[in-house]
Amino acid sequence: MTNLVTNLAAAVEEHGDNTAIGYQGTETSYEEFWGQTGAFATALEERGLGAGDRVALYLPNVPPFLIGFHGTLRAGGVVVPMNPQYKSREIGHLLGDSEAKVVVALADLVPFVNEVQDETSVEHVVSIGGEAEGAVTLEEFLEPGDPDIVDRADDDVAVQPYTSGTTGQPKGVQLTHNNLASNANSAAKLIPDGIRADDKGLGVLPLFHIYGMTVTMNATLFNGGAFYPMPEWDAQDAVSLIEDEQLTIMHGVPAMYNDVINQPNAEEFDLSSVRLCGVGGSGIPVEVLRQFEELYEPKIYEGYGLTETSPITHFNSPIDGRRVGSIGKTVPGVDSKVVDDDFEEIPPVEEGPIDEEEADLREITGEIVVAGPNVMKGYYGLPEANEEAFTEEGGRTWFHTGDIGYHDEDDFFYVVDREKHMIVTGGYNVYPREVEELLFEHEDVADAAVAGIPDERRGETVKAFVVRTPDGDVTEEEIKQYCLTNLAEYKHPREVEFVDELPRTTTGKVQKFKLREQEGDD
Ligand code: AMP
Repeated sequence: MTNLVTNLAAAVEEHGDNTAIGYQGTETSYEEFWGQTGAFATALEERGLGAGDRVALYLPNVPPFLIGFHGTLRAGGVVVPMNPQYKSREIGHLLGDSEAKVVVALADLVPFVNEVQDETSVEHVVSIGGEAEGAVTLEEFLEPGDPDIVDRADDDVAVQPYTSGTTGQPKGVQLTHNNLASNANSAAKLIPDGIRADDKGLGVLPLFHIYGMTVTMNATLFNGGAFYPMPEWDAQDAVSLIEDEQLTIMHGVPAMYNDVINQPNAEEFDLSSVRLCGVGGSGIPVEVLRQFEELYEPKIYEGYGLTETSPITHFNSPIDGRRVGSIGKTVPGVDSKVVDDDFEEIPPVEEGPIDEEEADLREITGEIVVAGPNVMKGYYGLPEANEEAFTEEGGRTWFHTGDIGYHDEDDFFYVVDREKHMIVTGGYNVYPREVEELLFEHEDVADAAVAGIPDERRGETVKAFVVRTPDGDVTEEEIKQYCLTNLAEYKHPREVEFVDELPRTTTGKVQKFKLREQEGDD
């Protein structure tokens, strides 16, 4: 068993003078960072907060995210990370469900918190990057000093990110200290020599998401490396940071790599300082990987995981080989297999990847299930969802990923489809039902369905199929604007099509594959 606080404390002990965080030309050593997290923990304690209390972070990748994250953990609290693109409608649910008592928010985002605060348990709002009404600044909030040592068991919940899964409404994923620390330790070992104290990691994947949190932030910090957070993705800025600081590790979603190779000056970039490029979140198109590797020295290694598994379960490690098109082998300490609807194991194919056009996928594919120390404790307050998520078998607790795939005799796994209806656009997950529910609230909308359609740049993009009410005269532009006002930007439909009716099954389910097929006919 292992623990996030003791892992960080050990790194501070061993690498106190090293740079922990490099941000816009300033460097913070491990000693200094430890002092900042101590001041945050003390601030919570002086306000009567501690073990089990929830602190929401409503921030992009800026140093206060790291201070709030590790400061909360030192006080024994639970971190609730929230996407800074969310608006009040979305954070209202997260704050209410998690019963967060503190929100640390970018000053510009504080008004969204104010709008919903009365319906939540939020007692303190801390603003970052300026003053905001109803909030104290971080400087006013911090209480320099040594916090009390809070004894949190390794299987106590440390972080509660939200994910929607199949049901639309976001669910709180309870991740323990051991879930997260063991996965950060595994992630670090997947690189030749492991992550070292002289490594410098690019921190552009959002830290509110599990991939950025574990694989970039914690895996770097627990090994004495330097972490370079970037609040926003911009290919030119990211490459400049890599070149200027000679960064050694880069992780991104496929859309980021695609963006880099499509820059007009892509051939001038020098990425030779990077010893590992990781990718995950969705499958990287083989063509993008090939073009990237033709242009630059580092190779791209694909991995796979979910919020519920802290996240990494599979990785194409440079240590024991990679297979392009595969999500990789099961990482050490984790078990995985492919099962049918009766939880019977489906045997591996001889060697992948197989030709999907020719093979009968129904015979070789099933749901990928996983077991290991990284698998969440369960969804927060949702016994029915937990019932569906886990199967006890052979003395193990298996988690259902909801992804359909197959594996080969060398233990490489391949994802062919998602059982869930999630859309992955530019690395972000969009759950159609959430957008559909908003559309249904529009007075001119009679019926609506949202589906992912292929998009060269983003992998998939969100498209809404809308049936207008008989008197309704809402336009495509108005629908888009309506969604933009109420939801994070990446969730809004980039395409809207008005139809007379939606194809449905006899039980009333919209047949999304038919909508997508029609799309292909256009
Ligand atoms: P999240 O909980 O946001 O991390 O989303 C997890 C989901 O992302 C998985 O269930 C997959 O559907 C998808 N995913 C992650 N990595 C990959 C990958 N390498 N290839 C295909 N799908 C992926």
